[in-house]
Amino acid sequence: MNVTVFGTGYVGLVQGAVLADVGHHVICVDVDDAKVERLKKGEVPIYEPGLEPLVKDNYAAGRLEFTSDAAAGVKHGQVQFIAVGTPPDEDGSADLQYVLAVAETIAEHMERDQIIIDKSTVPVGTADKVRDKVDAILEARGRKDLRFDVVSNPEFLKEGSAVSDCQRPDRIIIGTSSKQTEDVMRELYAPFSRQFDKMIVMDVRSAELTKYAANCMLATKISFMNEMANLAERLGADIEMVRQGIGSDPRIGYHFIYPGVGYGGSCFPKDVQALIRAADAIDFDAKVLKAVEARNNDQKTTLFQKIDRHYQGHLAGKTFALWGLAFKPNTDDMREAPSRVLMEALWEAGAKVQAYDPEAMEEAQRLYGSRDDLSLCGTKEAALRGADALVIVTEWQSFRAPDFELIKQQLSEPLVFDGRNMFEPKRMAIKGFTYLSVGR
Ligand code: NAD
Repeated sequence: MNVTVFGTGYVGLVQGAVLADVGHHVICVDVDDAKVERLKKGEVPIYEPGLEPLVKDNYAAGRLEFTSDAAAGVKHGQVQFIAVGTPPDEDGSADLQYVLAVAETIAEHMERDQIIIDKSTVPVGTADKVRDKVDAILEARGRKDLRFDVVSNPEFLKEGSAVSDCQRPDRIIIGTSSKQTEDVMRELYAPFSRQFDKMIVMDVRSAELTKYAANCMLATKISFMNEMANLAERLGADIEMVRQGIGSDPRIGYHFIYPGVGYGGSCFPKDVQALIRAADAIDFDAKVLKAVEARNNDQKTTLFQKIDRHYQGHLAGKTFALWGLAFKPNTDDMREAPSRVLMEALWEAGAKVQAYDPEAMEEAQRLYGSRDDLSLCGTKEAALRGADALVIVTEWQSFRAPDFELIKQQLSEPLVFDGRNMFEPKRMAIKGFTYLSVGR
């Protein structure tokens, strides 16, 4: 099929490349000319395992193209994906300006019947807004003869494993009430639904809400565990034992119940907030979601509080080695990352940071490059040099078995604050470290 994807971010670029890889002819459109130029040169602007070869191979094969020419994009596709950002508005609700701008572009240039697929995460009722927008423009153009449908097809990929998630989705949610549209969607996704039928077809509003419900459920699990970790710390229990104890119940399961320093990234914080605002707008008090958000905001400050308590408020002049800047491993994304809350609090208190992350160094440079109280170090070992303590914020695989002797030699005292419970407290004590982790 000829497919057009608007937006070449984590979702649009990965989805476009994966669809091209099974043989569809995909054109990706972005308003960011510089990004399009980089992509045309074979440079992939984000880090995702497996993405670069996929983009390069399919681009070379002519199945994947990039353009900032929206008219050419609309002309190409039998289906038009909207995969642009839906950032939080001033009050936390989802800002739909980019989604509606794409709807406008499609309506202005379409010359044949179209299926518009909304892949961005959008509040319930957005498909109706897209439909109204397209309708109004077609009417103004005198092209009411053109027919179109708006499908909700939310994306569930995880940053860090986006390519494999898209290639082997757990489920494909299709929100449409039209049999004809459903058939086209089945054809589009048939290569990904061979093992068993992964398509779950429902009405458009349910599909829109499914995405928020999924992210809010996952955020709830994290905030719940962080609440238990705070309790465990105060009650003299070990949250890691509690985690294993409850995870063994198949109704609870081991997934997504790790305590830490709060969830970040471009999705959970904004989606929880957007659903709270959507509930507020219809006078419904989303009590659980509000608590999830409040716990998370607090949790992001806990590592700083531990450090501050340890030094009894005397942080001015201290230097901290910080391992992990990305909001989670295997990504370079620092949006809403707990590392940012921590670093900003440390700087505010007069401390310095020497940071290392396997993938997010460029992003950290872009965000904080001008600060003289931040040194971005080329290796995790370099970040330790002359620091007063080590702080671990992201659980990268390469941090799991460090050279503890070297850590001791490099730090002014053997002190580790671990926001991800990467090590055994008993072993750390035997090695001679003061080790402060989460919930134990
Ligand atoms: P992103 O910010 O990485 O990328 C969005 C892209 O859209 C940018 O390149 C931007 O230049 C482009 N864009 C903006 N307006 C445009 C227009 N009018 N025409 C063409 N391109 C335009 O965003 P993302 O992380 O890919 O997320 C996109 C959507 O998918 C969001 O709604 C998000 O909530 C959702 N989502 C994200 C993830 C994730 O892990 N990142 C997962 C599932 C769903």
